[in-house]
Order: sequence, then structure tokens, then C-alpha cells
Amino acid sequence: MSDEFAPILRNLNLKATPKRLAILEILMNESVYMSPEELWEKMKRQFKKIGLPTVYRNLEELSDRNVISKVNHPNRQLYYYFCQNQSPHHHFICLSCRKVEDINFCGLNELEKEVKKKIKGKLLSHIMQVNGLCRHCLNKEEKTHKI
Ligand SMILES: [Zn+2]
Ligand SMILES: [Zn+2]
Ligand SMILES: [Zn+2]
Repeated sequence: MSDEFAPILRNLNLKATPKRLAILEILMNESVYMSPEELWEKMKRQFKKIGLPTVYRNLEELSDRNVISKVNHPNRQLYYYFCQNQSPHHHFICLSCRKVEDINFCGLNELEKEVKKKIKGKLLSHIMQVNGLCRHCLNKEEKTHKI
């Protein structure tokens, strides 16, 4: 399993260390975004003496190079997510169950036009994350409110 990540990391000039590979493997097997503390709990099974700062540092290095995505949560807690979809896209994150789903909407063309027209500048990058409730959590919510 770890074999598939090693070339990705090498391309980004990141050494494929056992810790980085373990982080990617844990995140890949989760359909929800995870906090560094939760990852740390799982890492400790494999690396007995690992400290939380090491987990933080590795997560930052991976997200700086866009191997994993950082989630901007309204509760200000840091979360990370690994998405295998390599094409440009954005994420819908469920604030209730933490599920992440791909959104096939970008809006880059419209943004570029607006920046050119209104700001008279040039767009170099953009960040978009959509927060909400997934269909499952929405159903649950509607049911509880009816009672
Ligand atoms: Zn949900
Ligand atoms: Zn994605
Ligand atoms: Zn976009």
C-alpha cells in the first residue's frame, strides 16, 4: 500500500519516511477529515514514541505541498483530509459527520474575469471550501425537528 505514495512524495522532494507514509495511509482509509490528535492516536500504535509535534509538522509539510488538504473548520480546530482525485476541484465538508465530498464546480473563469475587470489585477490562485450538511445529516436533522 505504501508503495504507491513513495513516488508522489519523491516528486515533491519529500522523503518517503515511514511516518509520512503512515499518515497518508491512515488518511486514505478515512472518508472523513481528521484532527492531528486523532491521527496521533492511530500513529502511536505503529510508532510508540511519536510526539504530537511530529505529527503536526508532518501534516504541515504534506499540506504545504498539497499532498493532503487542510480543512478550515468554523470551530477553529485543524483537520486534514487526503483526496485521491488529482484533477482540480473543491470540497464539500459536512460539519456534522465530517464527511468530505468532491464538488465539480470551480468558478475559476468567472473569478478571473471579475479580478481582471474590477481589481484590474491578475488571479494567481484561489481557495474554496463549501461547508454544510450532507444528505444523511440533513435527513436526520429534518426528522428531529419534526418530532
Ligand atoms: Zn454529514
Ligand atoms: Zn477531493
Ligand atoms: Zn476553483
